Amino acid sequence: MSAVRRIDKTRKSNSIPDMNKANILIVDDDLINLLILEKMLKKLDLNIVKAGSGAEALEQIKKIDFALVLLDAQMPGLNGFETAKAIRSNKKHKDLPIIILSAVSKTREFILKGYESGAVDYLLKPIDQFLLTSKVKVFCELHEQKKLLKRKNKELNRLNRKLHEEISRRKEAQQELLFQAIRDPLTGLFNRRYLEESLEREISKAKRQKIPLGLIMLDADHFKIFNDTYGHIAGDMVLQHLSKLLVKNSRKEDIACRFGGEEFVLVLPGTDRKVAMQRAEDLRLIVENGEPIRHRKKLLPNIRISLGIALLPDHGSTAIDLISAADKALYQAKAAGRNRAVIAGPEETETHTKGTPGNRNSLDSKNTAPA
Ligand code: GH3
Ligand code: MG
Ligand code: MG
Repeated sequence: MSAVRRIDKTRKSNSIPDMNKANILIVDDDLINLLILEKMLKKLDLNIVKAGSGAEALEQIKKIDFALVLLDAQMPGLNGFETAKAIRSNKKHKDLPIIILSAVSKTREFILKGYESGAVDYLLKPIDQFLLTSKVKVFCELHEQKKLLKRKNKELNRLNRKLHEEISRRKEAQQELLFQAIRDPLTGLFNRRYLEESLEREISKAKRQKIPLGLIMLDADHFKIFNDTYGHIAGDMVLQHLSKLLVKNSRKEDIACRFGGEEFVLVLPGTDRKVAMQRAEDLRLIVENGEPIRHRKKLLPNIRISLGIALLPDHGSTAIDLISAADKALYQAKAAGRNRAVIAGPEETETHTKGTPGNRNSLDSKNTAPA
């Protein structure tokens, strides 16, 4: 029988493999040998794939995941050793077990050649059925274990990835919660709770470093009238705009907070009386004279603000001292006509600035509704 005819016959007899069984490839140019091997392995319940040449074996290996290859040493074309080398040269198959079957040489040198070409074992013809089935069984079990390990590894990696995703999702959620806990939702400024804890901290730091600290409390003038005139939504927009101005005109060490309603507090670490007064006056002018904002296609008049200033150590040594001193100064700024900054004083209150008469885009400083 010619080699070509023999190969054709082996092709026809390779059926679609059963996915649950281990696949084993038997390679021999002699169909009789292939059939003998197949018969010997029958009771092991395997998918047996037959190849009549080294080249055909390489083709099958590309398509099927084999647990083991039984490779005849002497074949026309690629012999067993060359086929084993070709299998091993592909990174994907470098661990595929190969047993070389040979009838010809039983010398030690020949066996070593088999190992060098990448075979893991050697069997001599005529094949001993018990030896063959024992070895094939071991390799199939090993393959099954390897597959199981691979599946478990994949599952472990998947769980690991999920765990990492969950951890970073929780971290983000936690950060968001932390952010929300210290921020005012309308303006994004720090809230009163954060002011109270950070002010204590900043006061301790300033005392330790023997540096001053300024605190400005500011409040929108006649904001009730503004809301009544232009609506609450316009009022919200103005508070957001005012907050942006406060942040824009702050240093990175300053703390800008929404104290409540239309009242804000700025903590100015390392700021003395003169600089605090200047900062308050600058802010007052920026708010009064800045670009007006647009609402429903109309320009809104600029609001005005009154400011009260307190200083560490001049007006107390605790957060409550400074806040209540600034609050009193703010009250005095309101009482003195609004649109001004007032610094708290131990005995007398010093008026620092006085607002200018209203312009077209400003609420006027008298206690009347805007035009
Ligand atoms: P004064 O110059 O004495 O501060 O007068 P005022 O009208 O600003 O002060 P008052 O305490 O009488 O009113 C505060 C107003 O601020 C009333 C309230 O509706 C408004 N306000 C407080 N919080 C918000 C807010 O989140 N959005 C808007 N749109 N208005 C607010
Ligand atoms: Mg007000
Ligand atoms: Mg107020």
